[in-house]
Amino acid sequence: MNIDTSLLPSGGFGYDFPTIKITPMTFKDICEYISNQPGEDDPLGRYLFDLEVLKTDDPNINNCYIMDVDFLIFYKKLITVSEDLTYQISIKCPVCGRSIKKTISFEKDIRFKQIDPKYMNGAKIKLGDHTYDTIVPTVKDFMKVFSIYLRYRKISDLKMIKTIALIEDFDLMGNQVENDVLNATHSDITLLMALRELYYDRLEAITVYCPECNKGLSREERRSVAVSVDSLIVDFFRDLIWNSPIDESKILFK
Ligand SMILES: [Zn+2]
Repeated sequence: MNIDTSLLPSGGFGYDFPTIKITPMTFKDICEYISNQPGEDDPLGRYLFDLEVLKTDDPNINNCYIMDVDFLIFYKKLITVSEDLTYQISIKCPVCGRSIKKTISFEKDIRFKQIDPKYMNGAKIKLGDHTYDTIVPTVKDFMKVFSIYLRYRKISDLKMIKTIALIEDFDLMGNQVENDVLNATHSDITLLMALRELYYDRLEAITVYCPECNKGLSREERRSVAVSVDSLIVDFFRDLIWNSPIDESKILFK
């Protein structure tokens, strides 16, 4: 399946390839995926694993921005499990603890904010006493930073590593950049949060309503639960096995 890069969160800005190829996984692929995927205690390993799986579809993945790749990881899993691009999830209601089931539809529920091209050339930022240039990292750029943290495991928070990867100067002064990011205070925190949201968090949360907690309430009174798409990606295939009933047209018990 070829996806037009202009439809990705980056709008395909600066890409010299018009499409990117994403292939659904076969049953064999899924079984291999489940048995080789690193455990829940290793979020960095899991992310690397997803990147590697995606790269087998198209060598240009290396030249894609991380913001697009995060979306493509989800998309590949979705086209693997669903022909009509719907997917059933269950969420635990944070108020009553009941399990809420919802069918997610790619067309209706998955929305990302496409970035304004004027932000794609990076910026100059001031962090602590230093001025830095920022970049919008591609997989290739990100791997330069990520591979260091995979090796030394000094930071295990993926979001933090992604934030550090936004700063071009990491190449030459890694320790200083790392220090300025990790120890940011006050307005520097706001700045880093804004950058992170701008360059990575492009998928909007999905809104789910607990039928029990909202019984008898009017539309205005209802309280929703926001589910981030990121959290859905992590255990995608496990959720699938738990939530998908067997289609009666496919199996007939004797
Ligand atoms: Zn509830």
